[in-house]
Amino acid sequence: MACPLCNDTRWRSVVADGVERVVRCDCWRAAVLERLMAEARIPSRYARCELSTFEHDMDSQREAHRRAAAFVESFPVVDRGLLLYGPHGVGKTHLAVGILKAAIRAKGARGYFFETRELLRLVRDTYNRSVEETEMDVLAPVLQADLLVLDDLGAERTSEWVQETLGLVVNTRYNARRPTIFTSNLVDSPDSTDPRTFIFQLGARTRSRLAEMCDWVEIRGVDVREVGPHASPDTIQRWQKQSPASPDNLRRAGGLPGKGKAMARARLRDQPPVELAWPGGRAGTKG
Ligand SMILES: [Zn+2]
Repeated sequence: MACPLCNDTRWRSVVADGVERVVRCDCWRAAVLERLMAEARIPSRYARCELSTFEHDMDSQREAHRRAAAFVESFPVVDRGLLLYGPHGVGKTHLAVGILKAAIRAKGARGYFFETRELLRLVRDTYNRSVEETEMDVLAPVLQADLLVLDDLGAERTSEWVQETLGLVVNTRYNARRPTIFTSNLVDSPDSTDPRTFIFQLGARTRSRLAEMCDWVEIRGVDVREVGPHASPDTIQRWQKQSPASPDNLRRAGGLPGKGKAMARARLRDQPPVELAWPGGRAGTKG
């Protein structure tokens, strides 16, 4: 249906002080926002992720939500981005997507969502001769966006090329003072031999750049994929004591779950959420 105000010309005339002039119609802004949102590359599985739909059961989730809302409020007048890090399933990507959508809607930001692994794949594909896109075709929007979400930093197996490519993105955005929202399951520890740390995966230089350009927000929530949504405080407490994937036990075991634990998790998921007795494993069952 054509816009009743401007008949889809996107301009309409107004008379002020007896002088007639043309201004942008309201529908123009709506159309611009719709286009920005469509171009933001937010995967459809995150269609419902908004800041307003973020569930925060734990203090660190509440704090992260507060920081996310404050970021959007100040955007684009922000000095630093956010680095949301913590274990699986605490809502890091939900928050990052919520920030991006809110910045587009409220501020008209030109922003993009990229899963780190997908971005690296797109760049790598350009080295293939049958692909006409160049590396810079892929990277230009990433480097120039008003706001970039780089999801799951460190999920890609590290290599010199991976570190160099991510370093280019991080450095360019840092130099241009363009804010970035990162999410990551990596752990912040100075141990450069531990493959679960930022320093191992990204290198010391990029890690320290990230420290300069982002506020680091650690989220230590419960894993909703293990306890189910709307878990009672009792269930959460039991989970914190028993699950090897809980933040407390992860810390005790020295890091994030590996493949064996992921399989064990899949088994856990098939059980009713309150039955969280853990059949063994090095993280132990004692709380
Ligand atoms: Zn109109």
